[in-house]
Amino acid sequence: MSATGFRLVLLGPPGAGKGTQAALLAKHFAVPHVSTGEILRHEIGRGSDLGGRARQYIDKGELVPDQIMLGVIRERLSQGDCAPGVLLDGFPRSIPQAAGLEEIFAAEHVPMRAVSLDVPADEIVRRLSGRRTCRACGAMFHVTLSPPAKAGVCDRCGGELYQRDDDREDIIQARLDVYHKETEPLMAFYRERRVLRSVDGTGSSREVFRRVVEELEGAPA
Ligand code: AMP
Repeated sequence: MSATGFRLVLLGPPGAGKGTQAALLAKHFAVPHVSTGEILRHEIGRGSDLGGRARQYIDKGELVPDQIMLGVIRERLSQGDCAPGVLLDGFPRSIPQAAGLEEIFAAEHVPMRAVSLDVPADEIVRRLSGRRTCRACGAMFHVTLSPPAKAGVCDRCGGELYQRDDDREDIIQARLDVYHKETEPLMAFYRERRVLRSVDGTGSSREVFRRVVEELEGAPA
């Protein structure tokens, strides 16, 4: 699959490895990695209005309203670097978002694909509760599964690693509930459109990456 016309949506529950895979895949296919969670965290960090509004929802593990998110994604996709292709991580998260995205892509006459990363529920909680994120570059580590060389320090940029407020155990359950109610129906949405591939998301990030690339390169939509 070439970068031209590359429109990929990564699906899966929080902690399925979307962020890690998105970074690897974006590099492999030479397209921008657009994470709506990262965009919102950046807006919170710089104290913008959008960040302030988003925070009320993020801190509770809830979804930021669809109208706000559709505005965020429209604005990001209109930037020139997304013209040849894009990899979406964390968007869409609801049927109205998926329908809005479908309209945006339809206007561009470019086909899209969706890949879901399948990981069992108990593994998800283990991954999220040990996750540490770099404040500076957003890279992700895990205290036992993929620890940084030096505790608390990002291997990639030397930034400070922290535990996201929404990666604490009480909020994790709320996020999983929201996922099942709002986001899981997207599987059927994309399956009906025959653009969904499911990939086993267990094992090392390299193994999962290889499986996703095989799905994308081995089987035209
Ligand atoms: P993530 O980094 O993708 O896990 O996103 C962190 C949080 O940001 C989520 O739990 C939501 O509160 C919010 N968020 C990110 N993307 C979206 C989206 N597409 N729709 C609604 N809320 C979102």
